[in-house]
Amino acid sequence: MSETILSQRASTRAGVVPPGEREELLALAEGIPDLVRLGRGDPDLATPPVIVEAAIKALHNGFTHYTHWAGLEELRQAISAKLKRDNGLNYDPNTEIVVTTGVQEAMYVLFQCLLNPGDEVLIADPLYTAYNFMVTYAGGRIIHVPTEEKDHFILQPRALLERITPKTKAVVVNTPNNPTGAVIPEEILKEIAALAIEKDLVIISDEIYEKIIFDGARHVSIASLPGMYGRSIVLNGFSKAYSMTGWRLGYMAAPSDFIQKCRMLKYALTISVNHAVQAAALAVLDEEDDSVRETVAVYDERRRLVMSRLDEMGLSYSYPAGTFYIFVNITSTGLSSFEFCRRLLQDAQVQVMPGTVYGNGEGYIRISLTAPLDQMERGMDRMASAVKRYQNRQS
Ligand code: PLP
Repeated sequence: MSETILSQRASTRAGVVPPGEREELLALAEGIPDLVRLGRGDPDLATPPVIVEAAIKALHNGFTHYTHWAGLEELRQAISAKLKRDNGLNYDPNTEIVVTTGVQEAMYVLFQCLLNPGDEVLIADPLYTAYNFMVTYAGGRIIHVPTEEKDHFILQPRALLERITPKTKAVVVNTPNNPTGAVIPEEILKEIAALAIEKDLVIISDEIYEKIIFDGARHVSIASLPGMYGRSIVLNGFSKAYSMTGWRLGYMAAPSDFIQKCRMLKYALTISVNHAVQAAALAVLDEEDDSVRETVAVYDERRRLVMSRLDEMGLSYSYPAGTFYIFVNITSTGLSSFEFCRRLLQDAQVQVMPGTVYGNGEGYIRISLTAPLDQMERGMDRMASAVKRYQNRQS
């Protein structure tokens, strides 16, 4: 079919982020029988029953309307209390918190409201690639700050400093990090904060994985450090800690004068977040619940299994201090990241993601801990024999 008028008239913006390797591999995976899926950032775990029950009750009780554009007042109050309790942050529930359709919507709104054409945004690479899309769609430029396995992929303030230009407006700090599992320690966050103050930069702090953290590591919100309130935007949500990806619930917190500037765009995009979903979230924010602890224990067991199997395979990986991902070095196989993933998919029916999907991650793959233990074991068995074949062919 020849190209339609509609397609010819599409904006240049529509084409700035073409589909890539991720989409190619997802298409290849379709129809592969008995596939072990270790590629997705979507928990296999069920949403805690207390949330499901609360949502059903909310629907029966008529929670089926638009809400305040910034979200249900009770939910904003509960989020404000959570931010204070867990993160030492002080945000006014009436003016400084906006409930969003996932963190994803918050990202879109904030970059549209923050960036002018040509503004630069620094981010650790490998990165959660949606940042690339959001910054680019807002007319900004994403500047990749390389991180390395030898530093456990922790963002290094010196690498940040080297890339600051007069056009730099903001830095994205994503800790715990997707895709590397890195957790930035407080001393380094303090250095990044000092740089932000010295160079007058905005910080976007994506804390969506804050609860999924292991071996006693501590999550610190950079926004809680002295002098950071006025220049920080905190992003967080329910997708990962509460296995609620499909419910689409997140939030952003920032000083009220910036939130006011975001107001009309947020309203125009979605008016408000799903009423019943907001009411359901109150079930876990309002009381101390064990669901997160149980979830973290499940991921930790899988994580230990995968780490010991990778050790047996002789593959190095970045120490996963948080998240449900492990970023694995596959250079000993002599294959590119994409080729490794394509072959593993087709020869061994195991789906993992190439590091190149997350920026400059050539030589790495991302394994997600989002399948039950027996499947993770099966996936690791298959991967072990495939890796041996690839490595032997090398020697
Ligand atoms: N931020 C990071 C670092 C993520 O990994 C994801 C999803 O994978 C998101 C934000 C988006 O989360 P949400 O489901 O709340 O839109």
